[in-house]
Amino acid sequence: MSVSFHGRTVRGWVLGPAAERPARVLPIRRVLSRVPILDDHLLGLGRWMAERYVVPLSLAIGAMPPPRVASEETAPAGERSSRAIEPVVARKLERYRGGPELLRACAEGSGAFAVRPLPDDEADVCLEAVWACLRGRRRAVVVVPEAEPLPATARAVADAAGDAAMLYIGGEPRERYRAWLDMLAGRFDVVVGTRSAVFAPLENLGLIWVHRDAHPGHREERAPRHHVREVALARAGIQGAVCVVAGLSTSTETATLVERGSMAAVRPSRAEERAASPLVETTPPEREDRSPRLARLLRDADGAFLLVSRLGYGVARSCRRCSEPARCARCVGPVVLREGRASCAVCRAAAVCPTCGSERFAVERGGTERVEEWARHVTGLPVTRVESGGDALPPKPGRVIVGSAAAVKDFGSTQAVQLVAILDPDRARRREGLSAPDQALATWMEAARWAGPRGRGHRVLVQTRDSGDPAIQALIRWDPEVLHRAERARRRAAGFPPAHPVYRVVGTAASADALASLRPVHLLQSSVGGETVSLITIDPDAVRRFRERVVAWVGEGIVTRVEAEPQL
Ligand SMILES: [Zn+2]
Ligand SMILES: [Zn+2]
Repeated sequence: MSVSFHGRTVRGWVLGPAAERPARVLPIRRVLSRVPILDDHLLGLGRWMAERYVVPLSLAIGAMPPPRVASEETAPAGERSSRAIEPVVARKLERYRGGPELLRACAEGSGAFAVRPLPDDEADVCLEAVWACLRGRRRAVVVVPEAEPLPATARAVADAAGDAAMLYIGGEPRERYRAWLDMLAGRFDVVVGTRSAVFAPLENLGLIWVHRDAHPGHREERAPRHHVREVALARAGIQGAVCVVAGLSTSTETATLVERGSMAAVRPSRAEERAASPLVETTPPEREDRSPRLARLLRDADGAFLLVSRLGYGVARSCRRCSEPARCARCVGPVVLREGRASCAVCRAAAVCPTCGSERFAVERGGTERVEEWARHVTGLPVTRVESGGDALPPKPGRVIVGSAAAVKDFGSTQAVQLVAILDPDRARRREGLSAPDQALATWMEAARWAGPRGRGHRVLVQTRDSGDPAIQALIRWDPEVLHRAERARRRAAGFPPAHPVYRVVGTAASADALASLRPVHLLQSSVGGETVSLITIDPDAVRRFRERVVAWVGEGIVTRVEAEPQL
């Protein structure tokens, strides 16, 4: 509907009858749609999001359904499909520790579970949980971090459920709105999709499965900024369903919830995990992120995947004419050589020396393009470079792939290759952002599995100068706990303990004392251009009070802006 609000016409939703009638009430200007677009559970989830991410309720619930396409509301609804024939489901979870409890909960219970599957079990365990849920006459949602290419886990579930499944992964506004209306009408028992599938309007929800939760694709960067894992956990709580967070290496947040007892761990025995894990060895890198060991292994390999974190052919170090350090003349960013062209890594402008205007630079070689060029000289196999998800292809014998993290996808069970090499892990794990080590380890493990289980002469080569680093050790031992323990300590020391809400608050100088009065876990403040910017970490139980106070301070003009989870 549209209503008058402070002299402007704005859109709003009818949420339900008010408990009391305010003194002054204006009539609704126009009813735009009579379709109840959210059910009570989603409304509850919207209230939770408004509180947790400190946004207006309208913004929280506005983020759930796709934009309205009015004509679809009068179009005939699709037929409800008969449930697909039950496929043969591999029984793997039954043998995992905590697996039988998870399967029972999917059918008729609730709770939060962290599942760490064996590399070849990723899709099977998801399918098994979804089927347990359907057998209990409940519905299931599977959220994957990306659609291009569609993860094998998503494909397996969608194929098995046939007509009973909705693949909710983007598309035209009309299609998306149609899909939403059909989900509301109860046409589907299973919804498989990217981020917004976590809001899929399903009654009688039994399971929300979050696939590979350390993947950056699960973070929504637009307001209300949120993480799918957190929203899924909250929704399962509201709707009495099961939430599963799964991955070869989950995030430190998930591991922390397990440690606290808020989530139950589900995984095979250590012996099974070790037997299924690849052999990992380390060697120090030499020039251009390579080593003699890498050259030898690549020459003899029947197939390989080489993971490189830096794109392009190299980094410009200095101007060839005036010898000044190379930097972007426009934004002072670093200059990189990509596709034969020197440009700014930040603003992408063509690079010219800010001192003398020359376009020629002395380049330190290294990056996906340079590694591709080198690999062609070493191996007799065809070499393919992959820098975007759309180009990603599964590794297999007879092929060498040089790729960035964008090439590491869920391809399901693949034929093992003799060599997986991680060329510059020290650069990847030191990237900006508190979750960089989590993301790095998850990517390494997802790529490392392509070498197959140990004991067949296949191996993972890690070129590092710091083999004692927790992320590297976690990979070698095939035990993400090694990293998660270190990360908990590191983040606590930095003032951002995992699973504690963090906010960035902008306001006047008075906001500093106001925030300090809340006795936060951690408070970091600085003055930027006359404004006070605070990073505040609070106790998970203090979210409601924090929001109440901040909203009051916004009213008083002390606080001007709040942003949730800026540190990740
Ligand atoms: Zn620039
Ligand atoms: Zn110059």
